[in-house]
Amino acid sequence: MNWHKKNVDDVLKELKVSFSGLSPDEAERRFKDFGPNELIEKKQKTPIQIFLEQFKDLMIIILLAAAIISGIIGDVSDTFVIIIIVIINAIIGFIQEYRAEKAMAALKKMSATNAVVVRDNKTQTIETKYLVPGDIVHLTAGNIVPADLRLIEAYNLKIEEAALTGESIPSEKMTKSINDEVPIGDRKNMAFKGTLVTYGRGIGVVTDTGMNTEIGKIATMLQDEEDLKTPLQKRLEQFGKKLSFAILGICAIIFIVGILRGEKPLLMLLTAISLAVAAIPEALPAVITITLALGAKKLVNQNALIRKLPAVETLGSVTYICTDKTGTLTLNKMTVEKVYVNNTMSSETDDETILKAVAISNDAKKAPDGTVIGDPTEVALYEFASKMGFIKENLEKTYQRIGEFPFDSERKCMTTIHRWDDGKFISITKGAIEVILENSKEIIISGEKKPINKNELYKISNEMAFEGLRVLGVGIKIFDKLPEDFSHFELEKDLLLVGFIGLMDPPREEVKEAVALCKKAGIIPVMITGDHPLTAVNIARRIGIIDDFDVKKVITGKELEKLSLEEFEKMVLDIRVYARVAPEQKLKIVKALQDKGQFVAMTGDGVNDAPALKRADIGVAMGITGTDVSKESADMILLDDNFATIVKAVKEGRRIFDNIKKFIKYTMTSNSGEIWTIFLAPFLGLPIPLLPIHILWINLVTDGLPGLALAYEPAEKNIMQKPPRDPKESIFAEGLSYHIIWVGLLLGGVSLFTQAYSIHIGDFHWQTMVFTVLCLSQMGHVLAIRSYHESLFKQGLFSNPFLIFTVLLTFVLQLGTIYIPSMNKIFRTEPLTLNELIACILLSTVVFWAVELEKFVKRRRY
Ligand code: ADP
Ligand code: MG
Repeated sequence: MNWHKKNVDDVLKELKVSFSGLSPDEAERRFKDFGPNELIEKKQKTPIQIFLEQFKDLMIIILLAAAIISGIIGDVSDTFVIIIIVIINAIIGFIQEYRAEKAMAALKKMSATNAVVVRDNKTQTIETKYLVPGDIVHLTAGNIVPADLRLIEAYNLKIEEAALTGESIPSEKMTKSINDEVPIGDRKNMAFKGTLVTYGRGIGVVTDTGMNTEIGKIATMLQDEEDLKTPLQKRLEQFGKKLSFAILGICAIIFIVGILRGEKPLLMLLTAISLAVAAIPEALPAVITITLALGAKKLVNQNALIRKLPAVETLGSVTYICTDKTGTLTLNKMTVEKVYVNNTMSSETDDETILKAVAISNDAKKAPDGTVIGDPTEVALYEFASKMGFIKENLEKTYQRIGEFPFDSERKCMTTIHRWDDGKFISITKGAIEVILENSKEIIISGEKKPINKNELYKISNEMAFEGLRVLGVGIKIFDKLPEDFSHFELEKDLLLVGFIGLMDPPREEVKEAVALCKKAGIIPVMITGDHPLTAVNIARRIGIIDDFDVKKVITGKELEKLSLEEFEKMVLDIRVYARVAPEQKLKIVKALQDKGQFVAMTGDGVNDAPALKRADIGVAMGITGTDVSKESADMILLDDNFATIVKAVKEGRRIFDNIKKFIKYTMTSNSGEIWTIFLAPFLGLPIPLLPIHILWINLVTDGLPGLALAYEPAEKNIMQKPPRDPKESIFAEGLSYHIIWVGLLLGGVSLFTQAYSIHIGDFHWQTMVFTVLCLSQMGHVLAIRSYHESLFKQGLFSNPFLIFTVLLTFVLQLGTIYIPSMNKIFRTEPLTLNELIACILLSTVVFWAVELEKFVKRRRY
């Protein structure tokens, strides 16, 4: 279809739609015909696939093969037990992974993008997915174009089409038809799905959706699935490979030594393989994914929506949080507190010129329910004017708007052009106070033009800013007839100054506490704003970002621009407030901090924030005020736009990482204990302590249940009093490997002592006892490692009820293997006497006490 060649009327006719949009019925019909407006992504795994994947591990396959061979040659019952244990293991893995996939899908659904459409003459927001050909779609700066559109209105509309054409300079759009056969990049009356609106606004009619769009046709571009592995996962995978070789080596030694001692070869083989299956931490990367996905799900309840899973893991490493002021630190609910006109400062005014100017140049709108919607600055001005009796909707009939140059944070002002009294025309410019003052030539006082005293006016506006007010200047230009061709350069200079308006945007209440918490946690909060430095400093002091005024801590965009990256890096660590900066400068801030070795979270909401959000270690977009583009570039979206939510997320990230570490500590220590037990026995002249099924059983119940319950461990009390974790630091730092070895040795030692002693006193139940001691010791261990420092008794047994439940369940299951007669047959166990059982339980507490002692020593040292 050559939509660009047709004119607007023909396009609308062909798509059977008018400016008032499709009817809901028609939209639904078309949705059925055309399907969802989605680019088909990689196929989702089916549940059966997920289940089967649990068996793809090579060691599992070898184990099953060996079990089957041993079943054919010798004992079939063992084969069945092994197969059942492997299947139960797979089921647990499946359930976890399935839940994680569900959690991820739910998160993805929440970050779905919306589009503003007109249907049935009503403007409404719908999920992009539901767009159909013929829909009338509004575009504004910051949007990602939701479908292929033929433009029917365009006001300074610029669209960056790099995703499609590779051209990064935005294309200026229009609505006129183009008669030539032109390449996509030159179809200036079209907007294409997936491209970015960088400036202006427009309206388009949907011509194609989903895979029929231009981007949909380039199928290869869709599969740019990012590497979703987290830093920890990557490192563990590498480590896991080396570890696997080591474990296989040990198992080979166990096998050879067993054969030399005259054990049955098949039994020895099964023992060695079972041990390898139990000890190789194959599942670790998967467990990490699961824990992160569940953590992400929990974070949503705290208003932090994770877009990229690795962010959950790295949140805990953040050292600098660079945050926007307006809306994130403050409420973004502005009210006019002061006006300065006709040489007087007051909270009200009856000056017609300023009130009319403020009303008709306003971009806020009254919704049918009476609320005023729009940019908070605009809303505040709308409400101020209407309070004084100047209602935009009434005035704009007379003072029709005929042109505009929208606000952008680069120019820091906006201009509108209107019909004015006596057949004249007026342009109204409002914006940052110094921009307006610099460009003013005269001032209007009680209807008369007067010379301007800029120094005096700067003094007055600085006093206003010092009180924390956002000060806007309002200037006008009157024309007898409309200039034929005008630009904002023309209109925004030689202004006639009308007055200043001071707006208050109070800080959010919870922010002060969040800032204090950051500081305790070794995280430095930094304010970035387009506002005046005095306004910024006032707010920064109120919320605790700076507590003493120090020039080293404040910098303006202008100063920043003059500095080379190198010069800037020398001072960047001290700066707490960036004022009058343009969003583009955020990238420089992120770069400098990162070069200084910092781990940076950066917030943003506009189009121009995207590069900084991408570059930041944690890019944070605003859920309410954020543009599509910023959300798309972010790792995390704040559903409530609130700074305090970032801090909560950091805390949660730290907790999740801690728990992953605890899980690793627990399983690796267990594995090391199992290896020591089997490996050392022959060297101590003891028979093989356990049968293959015992090893597999212990692995199943200890890893499967209590291990996963560690994910539910609440945050350590001092979690926000520790400095951020160095993202490059190995998880085996802080004595983890040491713990794994010594506690593992202790686990093995206790088991072998149990074996040696009971054999020594002629107890025929020795194998059942070793089996029980090794299993229950791990329960003691998991309870002891719940906290890094605190004792279990102080922490309370029930602060992680899920863990206690799984520990008890494991205990009961273990008793089941000992006391249920049919289980005795399956597991080759014998019922223990009461004395034996008590001895086992007491021996199983040794590891618990030892680790509690380790923590006690640690506590004493700090
Ligand atoms: P912030 O980072 O605080 O959101 P902005 O970049 O939005 O800052 O705004 C920078 C400055 O531009 C403000 O201090 C104000 O002077 C001016 N400004 C903001 N919004 C408007 C508006 N709607 N109309 C005119 N000027 C504005
Ligand atoms: Mg703003």
